[in-house]
Amino acid sequence: MIRLHVLGAGGALPTADRGPAAYWLEIDGHGLLLDPGPGALVRLVREPGAPDGVDTLPAVLLSHLHLDHAADLAPLLFALHSVLARPAPPLLVAGPPGLAAYLDRLRELYGDWLAPRGREIEIREVSPGEAVRLAGGGRAECFAVDHPEDRFSRVCLGWTFSDAAGRRLVYSGDTGPSDELARQARGCNLLLVECTTPDDLAVAGHLSPAQVTALVRGAQPDLVVLTHLYPLVARLAPDAVVQAASGVRCVAARDGDVFMLDG
Ligand SMILES: [Zn+2]
Repeated sequence: MIRLHVLGAGGALPTADRGPAAYWLEIDGHGLLLDPGPGALVRLVREPGAPDGVDTLPAVLLSHLHLDHAADLAPLLFALHSVLARPAPPLLVAGPPGLAAYLDRLRELYGDWLAPRGREIEIREVSPGEAVRLAGGGRAECFAVDHPEDRFSRVCLGWTFSDAAGRRLVYSGDTGPSDELARQARGCNLLLVECTTPDDLAVAGHLSPAQVTALVRGAQPDLVVLTHLYPLVARLAPDAVVQAASGVRCVAARDGDVFMLDG
């Protein structure tokens, strides 16, 4: 079983419906925080069915290190420094090469304030093609997508999540048109895909509704969930556009949406 809680269906420009990127994923009953964008921690603890506090989070996975996907890492480590944080097993933090350097720079700024007291942090840099085994038999495998490098990493990742029964959720991260994303998405159960700009404002490293439609036509997932929706594109009913042009069911995500794969 895979359950996706959308905590943040927007990008860097938050709206009332859509905060920056953040998702709570449950795979065969085990949870992980995917992309801790700004505000992710607050939205996580308010989410029905989410953990009863950020201090016991088991795992955080990142697509890349831009702030709209990674900014709540520092507040999470700061929370774990509190003497009031509960002891828990090690926290896995997995992301692209450069993650360790990014955390080092944060520690240069904040020192011991980012040193957890009651638990270990397992930092794992993963390169495209590498997989992370999840508790309960699930699996997360990353792949390279097409998005501009940041100061710490030249690699931006998408993720394919699989449960023990073989159901697949594919997350694009931030990307422009990508052959590897198209390959990963082929026949998946749920394609969580960014849709950042209107077609007439398309920019490198992101997707517009027409580009998502081309991807979906080839990949034929069971369900498309549009995310990373900036205000200009959200107003254009991009889900209706993609669904009409591809014939595949499509939803424009809002914060608080939950999608379940259990059939
Ligand atoms: Zn982004």
